[in-house]
Amino acid sequence: MNLINDINCSWINDLNKRANINVLSTDKSSDWLIIGAGYTGLSAARKLSELHPSQKIILVDAQLAGEGASGRNSGYLVDTTLNDGFTSNKELSNYKKKTDIYKLGIDTVKKFIKEHQVNCDWNETGKYFASSRDEDQEKLTNFSNTLSKLGFEHNLLNKEELSKKLGTSFYNLALYTKGGILLHPGKLVRAMIDTLSDNVELIEQSQLLEWEKDDDSINCKFRNNKIITKKIIFCTNGFLKSLGIKKNYNFPLTLTASMTRPLTDSEFKSIGEPKEWGVLPVRPMGATIRMTNDKRILIRNTAEVHSPFKMSKSDLDKRSLTQKLGIKKRFPSLPDDILESSWSGIVSRTRNSSQIFDKIDNNVFAAGCYNGSGIGVGTLFGEQIAIKASNESTKEINIIESRDKPTWLPPQPFLNLGIHTRLVYEKFRAKLDV
Ligand SMILES: Cc1cc2nc3c(=O)[nH]c(=O)nc-3n(C[C@H](O)[C@H](O)[C@H](O)COP(=O)(O)OP(=O)(O)OC[C@H]3O[C@@H](n4cnc5c(N)ncnc54)[C@H](O)[C@@H]3O)c2cc1C
Repeated sequence: MNLINDINCSWINDLNKRANINVLSTDKSSDWLIIGAGYTGLSAARKLSELHPSQKIILVDAQLAGEGASGRNSGYLVDTTLNDGFTSNKELSNYKKKTDIYKLGIDTVKKFIKEHQVNCDWNETGKYFASSRDEDQEKLTNFSNTLSKLGFEHNLLNKEELSKKLGTSFYNLALYTKGGILLHPGKLVRAMIDTLSDNVELIEQSQLLEWEKDDDSINCKFRNNKIITKKIIFCTNGFLKSLGIKKNYNFPLTLTASMTRPLTDSEFKSIGEPKEWGVLPVRPMGATIRMTNDKRILIRNTAEVHSPFKMSKSDLDKRSLTQKLGIKKRFPSLPDDILESSWSGIVSRTRNSSQIFDKIDNNVFAAGCYNGSGIGVGTLFGEQIAIKASNESTKEINIIESRDKPTWLPPQPFLNLGIHTRLVYEKFRAKLDV
């Protein structure tokens, strides 16, 4: 099935259109082939080009590079996440391993940005885990205890304090963590494309259809041509499963999001002129909502089992309506017609929220499955899988490999049924916060 993204994502529309797109039009061979040009694949390519300046490296994407989830996410570069479960000591130590990986992810993005002087609207503003329901106090108190044990600076806020900070009186309580960055995901991934070195050949709009490994090479079939490569790294995240990679350990979820136009000065004044902020939900299926530095509001409040290859316009319109209502109930004074764009994107999940970072076979590697936190972790895993595939080791690889590994998933149709039931249950529990 062809992978086709909807084209109305404000983050991507903010960027200049790219020219001279190179599509696969002859058979090729390479030392290295990377499939998928999001944060993971672009970082893998950047690292391989440093490690092997005289080898032939090809990076391929089914669509335009960076225009999958990497260019259309909500832009939270996280140091902590809430919905991971961590009450016993064992869970605490797992949670610490997770935050160690998040920290390495932030450091990797920071280093890239500094080295290449990237402007991606980086704002170390922290983030809120907010809820409109008083019952969530206990969950936030437990989370606060966990963060205290691990030394993360944070504080709890009440309705009045939140309403001043956010410009909406929708939320009753929140936990604010000082760590975590808000950024423009499209600008970040575009910078990764623009700074690719000359020894990486970027091929776009060329979907890998089938691959097969023989003794010393991997044969990759595209629509009209093929690439034969010595080593391959799969960086297709939500599409790992459809390429047969770790297919009993990951599954794709489709998310949709919408963005408003910039608020006018008087609209912005009417909500108290808040500084840029980002709210994550306390319940997994609640809304992620963000006020950008240029006064736009972003909302993401759906996650579902859907074909990862395409969302039809009518399906997207329905989800866009849910997002319009999500904004309206938080900002009733704003006009109804301020949504500028709505889009869908694919993430990859595992059962226990762990990531994939693996040698699949001799000369075959894969990294992905960041369970919605791929800006930092994807950038980190891309670099580190390139190093691992080059038979080198780092302290980062040791930390990544000490994480809990993804657990096995049941086969279809039980898998989709199970996921669907869980999502419906979580949606019910999130209720008003969607
Ligand atoms: C709406 C939304 C909000 C999100 N919010 C956040 C957030 O706030 N913070 C955060 O950290 N993460 C967030 N995420 C998740 C984050 O975007 C991903 O984890 C991250 O982009 C993964 O990067 P990647 O490079 O591994 O995968 P992707 O960016 O998905 O790139 C994979 C690439 O592989 C290509 N591909 C797939 N199949 C093939 C094939 N057969 N042949 C060739 N190419 C192929 C695709 O076209 C795609 O470009 C969000 C995601 C979505 C969709």
